[in-house]
Amino acid sequence: MMATHPALPVVQDWFRVTAIDSTLTLIDEPHVHELLDANTWLVRGRDRDLLVDCGLGVGDLPALLAQLTDREPTVVLTHAHLDHMGAAHAFAHCWAHPLEAVESPELGSLLGSVWAAQGGLQDFDLPSLLISAVPHAGYDPSSYELRPPHVTRHLRDGDRIDLGDRALTVRHLPGHSPGSIALFDEADGTLFSGDVVYDDVLLDELPGSDREKYVHTMKRLRELPVRIVRPGHGPSFDRQRLCRIIDAYVASAEAPAGGS
Ligand SMILES: [Zn+2]
Repeated sequence: MMATHPALPVVQDWFRVTAIDSTLTLIDEPHVHELLDANTWLVRGRDRDLLVDCGLGVGDLPALLAQLTDREPTVVLTHAHLDHMGAAHAFAHCWAHPLEAVESPELGSLLGSVWAAQGGLQDFDLPSLLISAVPHAGYDPSSYELRPPHVTRHLRDGDRIDLGDRALTVRHLPGHSPGSIALFDEADGTLFSGDVVYDDVLLDELPGSDREKYVHTMKRLRELPVRIVRPGHGPSFDRQRLCRIIDAYVASAEAPAGGS
């Protein structure tokens, strides 16, 4: 089938790589619509590396990682939305919460109208294409599809992921999606939060979202001794900002209906 959209520029560097420190690297996709430009976190440990989420799956993430590390990381999916799990099928090990539909992902699309219909996002002013460039000549955005990954471990609340010199504890925090998880490093207060919390409008009306559970999640999150949040979208932020976001969300969700 002929693509009907105008030709997009080919970019050599599909990914943007930001070194945070010697054990943490942020990878994101700047040529993707802001709603779908998600953060991928490469966490290096002594015995194991983790990839917290893995982007849309448009660019060649394994090839990029081969330049950054000499062993394949284990992919931990915070949840099963396309901008977080698109590349997961390309890795040998993918871990996720059993309540999340990782193995039978929703369709996913790079076409604005199709994705809006799938996600119930008609209120958003989306462009016809959700990418503004392509990773190589001949890439057809209309051929995009989500492929199920190789899930080799189910993660549940309280599970510990041992990297050798640090450990991350799984927190099941539903609301954005049924099996949304965050990873918490109790030793240094770092929270990899996925889409549970980030510094922007939180989406709680997607298929699978649950506002009541989200409010409970937020109250639980406030009790965790978080020092810094490494979110699924946008910049990292500190505890003070986290508490403001939580309080604003809970206040608006518990406000009497009729406001907006
Ligand atoms: Zn999401």
